[in-house]
Amino acid sequence: MKNKETYLTGAGDNTRLAHLGHDPMSYHGFVNPPVVHGSTVLFPDCKTMESRDQKYTYGTRGTPTTDALCDALNALEGSAGTVLVPSGLAAISVPFLAYLSSGDHALIVDSVYAPCRHFCDTMLTRMGVEIEYYDPAIGSGIESLIRPNTRLVHTEAPGSNTMEMQDIRAIADAAHRHDCVVTIDNTWATPLYFRALDFGADVTIHATTKYPSGHSDIVMGSVSANEKHWPRLHEATITLGICGAPDDAYQILRGLRTMGVRLAHHQKSALAIAQWLEARDDVARVLHPALESFPGHALWKRDFKGSSGVFSFVLKADGPEHFRAKSHAFLDALSIFGLGYSWGGYESLAVKVNLGDRTIAKAPSEGPVIRLQIGLEDVVDLQKDLEAGFAAAAAV
Ligand SMILES: *Cc1c(COP(=O)(O)O)cnc(C)c1O
Repeated sequence: MKNKETYLTGAGDNTRLAHLGHDPMSYHGFVNPPVVHGSTVLFPDCKTMESRDQKYTYGTRGTPTTDALCDALNALEGSAGTVLVPSGLAAISVPFLAYLSSGDHALIVDSVYAPCRHFCDTMLTRMGVEIEYYDPAIGSGIESLIRPNTRLVHTEAPGSNTMEMQDIRAIADAAHRHDCVVTIDNTWATPLYFRALDFGADVTIHATTKYPSGHSDIVMGSVSANEKHWPRLHEATITLGICGAPDDAYQILRGLRTMGVRLAHHQKSALAIAQWLEARDDVARVLHPALESFPGHALWKRDFKGSSGVFSFVLKADGPEHFRAKSHAFLDALSIFGLGYSWGGYESLAVKVNLGDRTIAKAPSEGPVIRLQIGLEDVVDLQKDLEAGFAAAAAV
């Protein structure tokens, strides 16, 4: 059998996803890695214990199971190292704690995942970090916001719920001129559709809860860093005692094997539904970066290799006083689409988006914003379900 690095070089995404991360011959030929449960790891003698050159030393510092997933993620991201954390939110808070200190200034995109904003406005602010939100469309203009104490620029493209695109290359180039670390929440695109480190990001963050899991049954996050920023990230997770659990790591690696084919299906169905929605009179706007009508479309087309299954639309309503009743009628009439948070699973979801915390990228005025996660069901059935929602909204 040939060496993995040789036969995977230049291979396509699905081939790589099927084989990355675990070498069967390293474990009796079993195709999947063993799930190693462990706290204590024994050393053969005191000399080895003191030398610190044994590969595994303690359960919080990695196991063959977590390494298999981290190796796969490093290969997909092109990163120097990856840490696993217990949730996607922890995949944001841990690097922020790693790179920020009291007295520092951090620039956060205004269309950020809302719980990230909560972490910044409460705990980070209490610890003396100054937080400033910026316009997702800022591009190289970010330079004018950078101060002598700015240490971190956080990006998310597309933005949560309203899907604004960001020029990651322009932002990273400006930030690097001032020695700031650039982090990106890359959950929506996954490394298959956007290789963030190739566009200048230093650290890429994933809620592996979403597409890597694919089945709505695990919460886990990953943080991957380039060579320059890896040591500090690794040191922070060791210091904090934060680590990923072996069963979860196993399941995420299992999910990765099929992520390419699932994403292709999510992409195709979501685009079909987005285009269908765009043609409707009861829809004011569809917020999907792969639609030509979307303001950030050119950036998406320039930098991304695909689009996933999550996007939003603005349900037409005359006057803000009708937003609540219309959106509730629409959502309550859905059967296949579940009403729930998160996404990335096999099943479709719909949720009314709350944009009340935005200071720059504010809520559209034409109606309530509904976010859809298009699952693996058949498009015609999903359309029929959405029709029922539109009929109920029209009756309000
Ligand atoms: C869901 C999500 C997270 C958080 O993931 P959890 O595992 O639910 O904590 C972070 N960022 C984005 C963009 C998300 O959609």
